[in-house]
Amino acid sequence: MGDLGGGGETKDVIDVEAVVVGAGIAGLATALALRRAGFAARDGGGGGGVVVLERHAELRATGAALTVFPNGWFALRALGIAHKLTPRYQPYETSVVTNLESGATQVFRFGGHKSRSGEVRVRPVHRRELLEAMAEELPPGTIRFSSRLASIGTEPAAGGGGGEELAVVGLDDGTVIRSRVLVGCDGVHSAVARWLGMAEPASSGRSCVRGLAVYPGGHGVRKELRQFLSHGLRAGMVPISDTDIYWFVVNNTVPAGKPAQMPRIKICSNLMIKREAAGDPEKILREVTDNLGRHLPEEFLDVARHSDPDNLTWAPLLYRAPWAILTGRAARGPVTVAGDAFHPMTPDMAQGGCAALEDAIVLARALSSRSPSPSPADGVAAYVAERRGRAAWIVAGAYLSGYVQQGSTSAPGVRAAAVKLFRDWIFYRFVFPLLADTMWFDCGDLVAPPPRDGGGEEEAADCKKSHVGPDHLYHRDTISRGFLRIKASGEVHFKPSQSRIWIREAIQQCLSQKDQGTPRKANRACPKRSRNSKKFMCPSHQAMESMSIEEEYISTLHTRSNARFFSRSKQQLSGVEMEAAAAAEQQDAVVVPAELQRMMHRRTSSEIELAMAGYFDASDEASEICRQLLANIKNAQSNYLSMDSFLATIVSDSVAAAATTAPLAAVRSNPFSDAATRSSFRRIHDRYSSILRAIKRSHGKVARKLRVARAVRKASRACLVVACGAAAAASVAVAAHLLLFGLLVGPAAMALCPMALKRKVTNTNAAAAAAVDARPAARRRRRRSTTGSLLRLQEQLDTAAKGTYVLGRDLDTVSHLVARLSDGIERENAMARRCAERVAADDADAVVAGRFFPVQEMANELRRSCSSSRKLAEELEEHVCLCLATIHRARLLVIKEISKQA
Ligand SMILES: Cc1cc2nc3c(=O)[nH]c(=O)nc-3n(C[C@H](O)[C@H](O)[C@H](O)COP(=O)(O)OP(=O)(O)OC[C@H]3O[C@@H](n4cnc5c(N)ncnc54)[C@H](O)[C@@H]3O)c2cc1C
Repeated sequence: MGDLGGGGETKDVIDVEAVVVGAGIAGLATALALRRAGFAARDGGGGGGVVVLERHAELRATGAALTVFPNGWFALRALGIAHKLTPRYQPYETSVVTNLESGATQVFRFGGHKSRSGEVRVRPVHRRELLEAMAEELPPGTIRFSSRLASIGTEPAAGGGGGEELAVVGLDDGTVIRSRVLVGCDGVHSAVARWLGMAEPASSGRSCVRGLAVYPGGHGVRKELRQFLSHGLRAGMVPISDTDIYWFVVNNTVPAGKPAQMPRIKICSNLMIKREAAGDPEKILREVTDNLGRHLPEEFLDVARHSDPDNLTWAPLLYRAPWAILTGRAARGPVTVAGDAFHPMTPDMAQGGCAALEDAIVLARALSSRSPSPSPADGVAAYVAERRGRAAWIVAGAYLSGYVQQGSTSAPGVRAAAVKLFRDWIFYRFVFPLLADTMWFDCGDLVAPPPRDGGGEEEAADCKKSHVGPDHLYHRDTISRGFLRIKASGEVHFKPSQSRIWIREAIQQCLSQKDQGTPRKANRACPKRSRNSKKFMCPSHQAMESMSIEEEYISTLHTRSNARFFSRSKQQLSGVEMEAAAAAEQQDAVVVPAELQRMMHRRTSSEIELAMAGYFDASDEASEICRQLLANIKNAQSNYLSMDSFLATIVSDSVAAAATTAPLAAVRSNPFSDAATRSSFRRIHDRYSSILRAIKRSHGKVARKLRVARAVRKASRACLVVACGAAAAASVAVAAHLLLFGLLVGPAAMALCPMALKRKVTNTNAAAAAAVDARPAARRRRRRSTTGSLLRLQEQLDTAAKGTYVLGRDLDTVSHLVARLSDGIERENAMARRCAERVAADDADAVVAGRFFPVQEMANELRRSCSSSRKLAEELEEHVCLCLATIHRARLLVIKEISKQA
């Protein structure tokens, strides 16, 4: 066993499924993911499940805050944590970078074209909140605090054929834990990584001071990342909440090469501050305000001065070389590493924590019970194989990003000048968007979607391939969770089983308020929105504006076509004239398919247009089926009333009364026996399948076109980079020649040289800029608009495909419920008929002779069956209502995508 020092005498031996070392972001996410994926579902406290070892006595959140990029949110969503944090942390879209040397300011968007609303955005979060959100999902006792890893080893599993091994870890209190999997999430100085034989992290030659400024009365700073670039320094600040601002200063204060435990702070006068300074908040702050950051603007220094001393840290920035990640040994039998232990990186792309979250999902998926890997060691190997490439790419991107953004070095020189030129002219415009693309990576779900009736697996795989798999946002569970959250917030009291009543009430409320011309009260579910928008908005526009699940669901329910549907069915039942419904139809504010087709016509091919039109037609037909079903359910429910009175007479032992009501049971019809309803289910299902195939085909075509367009764009960017590089080299060469010339010509000319040099460089740069600008503007615009419209088309198809897929599955569920209910009704009818026959055949003597007893037994059985069928009918009604809402929601999303393009 590899001894890491500090191990004591052996006290206990515990057997568990998985041991995770370290309760940081990676450790907690891994433990949670393993549980959620079913690998270690038993509780760790009593032995058996997953155990997290943490050397400290509590959760530690060094660094106060961090920014979570979309890839992190995708992972948090898969873990079921995102919804806890997103309401608390507002997203931001832009970064404003000010070069303090030139005064130039550049603005860039993180998402580029991918920027969208919803959960998945760029948000800064408090580290502690993130850790606690994960920790509270673990069963008590899972995290063993004050447990430092002291030794690691492996041993053959008892009775494990095929050479399966167990990981064995020793703690410094003498406890020994055996597990099927050991994951080292013990940070940058990982003992597990060392045991595996991975290369030691290297120093990037830079360090970072981080702090959290607190303004109890509110700071009033705009929600964006402000960055300032100076000599060998990059500082930034971003508001996290109304009172807190996270700030950082990345600087060149540690020598590159071997890892440094503490930064050696170098002040301009070459004075070295003692290493202890890094642990003293006062000294750190003084260093920032008086030395490192003395060129920084006063607004930044003011933020730094408001820092909470407990959250001030100064840490050297370490990384593992990308080639060491690609080739190093990150797994040995059932032992592996995740997070910083696997791929420590510089924080310049804010990706360390996000990549750790991705690791957790991928590892748990590889080890999950549904994974094809036969043993934990194979699962671990599959995880490492999947993660290596991406991790190495992010580490390299982050290093390049930091090196360039900080201007390589604080010492002026040709290299620094060239890097700054590259940064100011090329990096933010062309390279950063490429790097930012990696932040939109979706690591997928914890487990593959469950197989469905044979063909489901293939369908799910297809969907994954074309990126149109079932989306959480569309999932019924998520919708129900949305409802529950509304309930929890106290805005709307909702019980899942009361959805139909709630839906109806909400629609009626909405309609009556619209008639009165007042803002809708239903907006109380979203206080912010009702505060901001006083005037009444078209429901479809409202849905378009917001993507939060609650708002979206409510908006969907309030669409006029839904309202029309409900009013129609209500009128039908109450016998009101259909003219009123027709009038309501005329006022319908939802964009109709024909209009959409017109909007699409201009830019899409006829095949795509056809697929989309088919989608809208099919969704109309699906709405119609839902409407019919709801009417049938109503009929079934009223039939149960007559059944109730029939049963009541039998219970009362009154044969005569029973004999009179017996015919009622016989005439009780089955509203679901209609073959037309069943065949329309089959038809709509087939239709949805073929539409899905057509949409996927179109999606594939658009994706191919997009790839070509991107390749062309990349090639032209590369040409531009080469051209600009050549221009930069030429300007340096010209400058050198001028300098030489100046030296030769004499002191007088030398005096004039700086001015001439400056003018020359400016002119050369201006010439390069002019060359860039001279590109025909029209061509650039055209290319951008082609790619943009392809992207939008892809989004439309994605949305339609998701809607089609989800709806297909919803309708399947509904059709199964209908079949069950129909069978139940048939069975009950048969029983009722039998009862009625017995009652009619028997006479009063039978009662006296006790022969009436079997009829009562039969009636009791019938009552039980009717009560479960009633529940089934309620469930079906709820499903149909939700299905209807899903149809409209999917349509609104497609409408949104199309109207974006139009
Ligand atoms: C300046 C800076 C800014 C950053 N900003 C961002 C950002 O904005 N966004 C982002 O995504 N990432 C950011 N990161 C990166 C991010 O902080 C890390 O990648 C992330 O914290 C790594 O988490 P981890 O769980 O792997 O390691 P850690 O957070 O280091 O956790 C390791 C845990 O293991 C425990 N441990 C260690 N050894 C043992 C042992 N022998 N026994 C038991 N327990 C042990 C430790 O006590 C600790 O709790 C930043 C990093 C820095 C330095």
